[in-house]
This record gives sequence, C-alpha cells and structure tokens, in this order.
Amino acid sequence: MSNRYGFNTLALHAGAGVDETNSRGVPLHRTSSYVFKSTTHAADLFALREPGNIYTRMMNPTQGVLEERMAALEGGGGALALASGTAAVFYSVINICGRGDEVVSANNLYGGTYTMFDSILPELGINASLESPLDPANLERAINEHTRMLFTEVIGNPVLDVANIGALSEIAHRYHIPLVVDSTFTTPYLFRPLEHGADVVIHSLTKWLGGHGTGIGGIVVDGGNFDWTDPKFRLFNEPDPSYHGLRYAHDLGELNPLAFITRMRLVPLRNLGACISPDNAWIFLQGIETLPLRMQRHCDNAMGVARYLSDHPAVKWVRYPGLEKDPAHEMASRQFENGFGGMVVFGINGDRTAGEKFIDGLDLISHLANVGDAKTLAIHPASTTHSQLTEDQQLQGGITPDLIRMSVGIESIEDIQGDLAQALDKTK
Ligand SMILES: *Cc1c(COP(=O)(O)O)cnc(C)c1O
Repeated sequence: MSNRYGFNTLALHAGAGVDETNSRGVPLHRTSSYVFKSTTHAADLFALREPGNIYTRMMNPTQGVLEERMAALEGGGGALALASGTAAVFYSVINICGRGDEVVSANNLYGGTYTMFDSILPELGINASLESPLDPANLERAINEHTRMLFTEVIGNPVLDVANIGALSEIAHRYHIPLVVDSTFTTPYLFRPLEHGADVVIHSLTKWLGGHGTGIGGIVVDGGNFDWTDPKFRLFNEPDPSYHGLRYAHDLGELNPLAFITRMRLVPLRNLGACISPDNAWIFLQGIETLPLRMQRHCDNAMGVARYLSDHPAVKWVRYPGLEKDPAHEMASRQFENGFGGMVVFGINGDRTAGEKFIDGLDLISHLANVGDAKTLAIHPASTTHSQLTEDQQLQGGITPDLIRMSVGIESIEDIQGDLAQALDKTK
C-alpha cells in the first residue's frame, strides 16, 4: 500500500490486501497456531531465517493488518498491537530499561500509567522521575547518566495541557535517548508525533481509535529512526542468551532499523504474553475505517460543548485546548491539525455535592470511567477515579472537588447541550 495515499484512504485500506478468498472485509483469523509445511520450514521460522506465523501470542494475520494500518497512519516503520494501552506502555518501558536504568516522564499522566511509573517500575529496579512538562526544561534537569527514555502524553491529565513534542524531542536527542509519546487523546488524525521528532508512539486502541467502547487494546508504533547501537542500551547491544545470542541493534539484517519493535515482539510479547485477541484486532480495524469522520465530529462537538459551558452561569471554569483563551491553545494550535480533541473538563459553581448532583442528573450522557466512545461520557473524578486520594493529594494532582471530565461523543450537538442544561439546572 502506497504511503502516498491520503489519510482517509490509509484508514480504510492500509495493510489490507485481497487474499485468495477475494473477501473485501479483513478476514478474522481465529486460530491459536499455524501448520508448518515441513520440519525445515518449522526450523527456519523458529530461527528467524524465514518470516511467518507460528503462534498467535506472537503474531496473527488480522493483527498484522491492524499493525500495518497504524504504522501507515502514524508514518512509522512498524507496529505491535497488544492486549491493552497499559500493556503497550509497560512493554515500551521494559523493552528499553532494565534494572538500574531510569525513565524521565511528564507527571500529568493517565492514572494507570502514573501508578506504573510511581510504584510498579521502582519495584523492578527502574526509577522514574515525574516532572511537570509545562516547562520542558524541568524534564531536561531530571535527565542523568542512567536515563534511558523520555516519556510524555500529548494531552495531559486532568486539565488537558498540551506538551511541546518538538522541544521534548530536541532534549531527548541531545542526550541520545528516545522520546516515547502516548498519543491516545489526539489519534493520528489530529497529531502525528513522529513528524515532530518522537521515536515511539503509543495508543490505547480502547479509546477513539476503536471508537465504540467495545474492546480493550493497545499499540506501539516504531518510527524506525532511533539508533539503538549505543552500548548504554544494554538490552539491544548485549547478546540475548534466550535468543541464540542475538544482539537486537546489530543482528536483525534488514530489520535493524526496526530493532525496537522487533525486540518487543520477540522478548516482552513472546515471553510475558499480553497479546491482543484476533477478535479485538478486527474490532479496532472496523473502528479505524471511520476514524477521520468520527474524530472530526468529536472535535466539532467538543468545541460546541466548551463554548456552551463557557457561557453557562452555573459553570465556574472550562478547560478545552480549542478555546482561544485556554492556556493550552497556543501549543495545541501550533501542533494539531483538524481540531483539538474530544475531551472537555470544567468546574461547577458550588461545593463538591454540585458535581455529584450534576452527574446524577445526567440522562443521555453516560456516567462511566472511559473516554473516546462514540457516545458522550462524563465522570466526577474526586468521588470516583481519584477518591482513594486525600483531598490534598487530589489538589496536588489538579483534581479539584468541582472538576467534571467529559468525553464528548458524536450525538446531535443540541441533544448533548440539552442534557447538560437540564443536569446543570439540578445543581442549583
Ligand atoms: C486509557 C488510556 C491508557 C490505558 O489504556 P487501556 O487500553 O485502558 O489499558 C493509557 N493512556 C491513556 C492516555 C489512556 O487514555
């Protein structure tokens, strides 16, 4: 598939040929394993002398189409689909860092990633410094001789600040470490981090890429340009005894530029096992076909909701990168195409119970802990996702008691605004 096709065309066609059955839809290959043609064939597959399918934990043809499509949409060299966005983040870290290596990361992260970096990775001997990315110099100051990667999300939690990916990539490359970016909230329709100097892009497919709230999955896209031959990247330069003494940065032949994603398949995925199911890979392909249409409507509706809330007397404050007065607007406008995403956060006048009354008053809008569904979703983090924290800890994380997080869907905008209007009325 020519990468010169436009984005809309790639979303529909990239990675998918027509096989001997002439099926137009991408076939769903529900199989755990694949028959070898001969003992020689089997031995060649296992020794990586010949590419091919062995076992679905490592690869599956339906998953392969998803990987090629996402690599094409991001402008990357290759991709690996996994069981969840969380697994995609974890495997990206442990594919680079071993005991004693360190991560420098933005601190305004998705909750699960924050916990992984703050308490799980240190148990494995991988420390993470979590810094405010509002000034990229904060992250630069945290880099030391043990640092092996820089990590950020494009749109942060909870108030939707936007990272300067170009500035962060310059810093990372000055210290010869890769910039790894979780781009879930933007999708490649709004922003392609590789074009701004990132080296690895991660998505939770669960959100806007799948787009219908029907499956959990994640993906890692390798830009294919980072040089892993620096000996400080131990995992890529020392012979791997579990793989015939292979040195991933040197011995992969024409796959050497894709050493990162190849190692992720051969080591973390093969041996730790967070593979995507073929069914979920198929569901995400179905979602991606309409990503440009849905994402445009998400952006248009979110802008409509942000403007509506800004003018509403019961609303104290609104954050949306698309609003001209928003602190993130300049950075977002400089980097994004087509719009500013589907997330809006806001505060309601009154105390914490005003937020609870608002949520309980919603009718059309669903109260749940997800984002990126085609349907509009809302949650009050102080009483749910972040309720285990003390009020002080909540405030430190920017979770004010009045904060409502909305993932704006693709319904008729009048109906979303109508539901907001009647629920806001109940907060008085
Ligand atoms: C949801 C999400 C994740 C985790 O993805 P799962 O598919 O739920 O495991 C990671 N990062 C961001 C930004 C997310 O929104």
